[in-house]
Amino acid sequence: MVEVIPCSLPDTQSQKEFDWNEENDINVPKVWGWLYPTRLHLKPLDLVNSTFTLGRSIDCDIVLNGQNITPNILKIVSKRHFKIYREDVDQSTIMYLEDCSYNGTFINGQRVGKGKKVILQNGDEISIGHPSVRVYVFKCICDSVHLPKEISSKYVVTRLLGTGACGEVKLVWNKKTCEKYAMKKIVKNKFMTILKKPQANDPARIMNEVKILKSLNHPCVIHMEDIVDTEDAVYIILELMEGGELFDRIVSFNLGIPEPDAKIIFYQIILAVYYLHQQGITHRDLKPENILLSENRPDTIVKVSDFGLSKFVNEETVLTTVCGTPMYVAPEILLTKGRGSYTKQIDVWSLGVILYVTLSGHLPFSQDDPKLTLAEQITKGIYTFPYSCFKNVSNTAIDLIKKILVVDPTKRLTVEEILKHPWFNDEILLSKVSRLIGSEHIVCDFGFNLDEEQVFEPNSKRLRICN
Ligand code: ATP
Repeated sequence: MVEVIPCSLPDTQSQKEFDWNEENDINVPKVWGWLYPTRLHLKPLDLVNSTFTLGRSIDCDIVLNGQNITPNILKIVSKRHFKIYREDVDQSTIMYLEDCSYNGTFINGQRVGKGKKVILQNGDEISIGHPSVRVYVFKCICDSVHLPKEISSKYVVTRLLGTGACGEVKLVWNKKTCEKYAMKKIVKNKFMTILKKPQANDPARIMNEVKILKSLNHPCVIHMEDIVDTEDAVYIILELMEGGELFDRIVSFNLGIPEPDAKIIFYQIILAVYYLHQQGITHRDLKPENILLSENRPDTIVKVSDFGLSKFVNEETVLTTVCGTPMYVAPEILLTKGRGSYTKQIDVWSLGVILYVTLSGHLPFSQDDPKLTLAEQITKGIYTFPYSCFKNVSNTAIDLIKKILVVDPTKRLTVEEILKHPWFNDEILLSKVSRLIGSEHIVCDFGFNLDEEQVFEPNSKRLRICN
């Protein structure tokens, strides 16, 4: 049992480098954590300075000596045993413990290792010399409350990255590796009938889906690190994308993204969807908000996200988000009000709308049309290419859009056919994409030599759909 002694401002910590409370403009130092002793003669400590040390040396913030620790423990304490410090990274505060000792510092019984650091989390127990010699419990102000154990034991949750229709996305850090991820929390509420279908409640089925989603591995598909499904929410740990959404990239231009850059982006999206379809996964919710960019520059790696959502949330919710419009939804879904059975061609339609909007900055279907409803325009395939929006777009690109936005799914190009379209018969494009994601991921290279170093075995698994 841990004995926690109430905290008061300590007199041992040298208060040299204060972070003053700016809001109140009074000389009150900001506390970012506390150390609560688990041994009678140790003092509690408010963590105020950015670095804090414990050891035998008199220049440590907490000095261990014959007065506060027994001689048999004192002899295994190093001059500087451990250091606790905070770093403000990426608008988040991360708190670390670094082990400086020979005999070891332990967090919740696990040895940190000399010269190594771990991310400290609320409630962590710190031991010295041996796991049983607990000295302090760490408490921080940024608490990860209400998180399932599977998440809180592995990750430290920090700042909000953004909010979507289904929930919020936060920046998290893996406690062991210190790597950053995005954690999406999808709250199960009255708007979202999660796991409604009887067979969907089957834990074995859910775990199987999770296994498939976690095993996906493609440079243009967001890697799903972990999924935790609880009664109230689904927590998804995702690869972090720091370049924002394709949606924001499009709106930063007046008339769509310049064609050469749009082509690099769209080609990667097609490769991702081709890969997902090969794995038996239909995305069902492709839209620029679900396509993320790794960097804020024109030729960047693009990744498709949110492809697993339909496994966890009700189908209709995914297809038309609570407050959203079915702008990217295929006509066959609208015609059957989301209750039919569809092929992966529903993704191809969404790709057509994405290509249209990426190149022109405008949507092909409008809610403001006085004569036709949005659903009528989509189900009848009524759209145009206004000169004002498409004046800088090539005829080949327009031809591709026309062949994708075909109401009959059996007459719509397939993803394989899109990859063979003349718009992609472009050596500069394929070289750039192969430099970004590796030439082994280029499905159809039109005979260009994209990587001279690469030797292709006749029986290689590399996918080629062109002769
Ligand atoms: P919707 O809920 O309609 O799908 P959305 O896709 O914008 O909309 P989320 O996917 O929940 O909603 O994303 C919310 C915010 O979090 C967005 O600003 C998005 O850019 C950000 N975000 C989502 N996933 C990641 C990620 N892997 N890395 C970095 N930021 C992310």
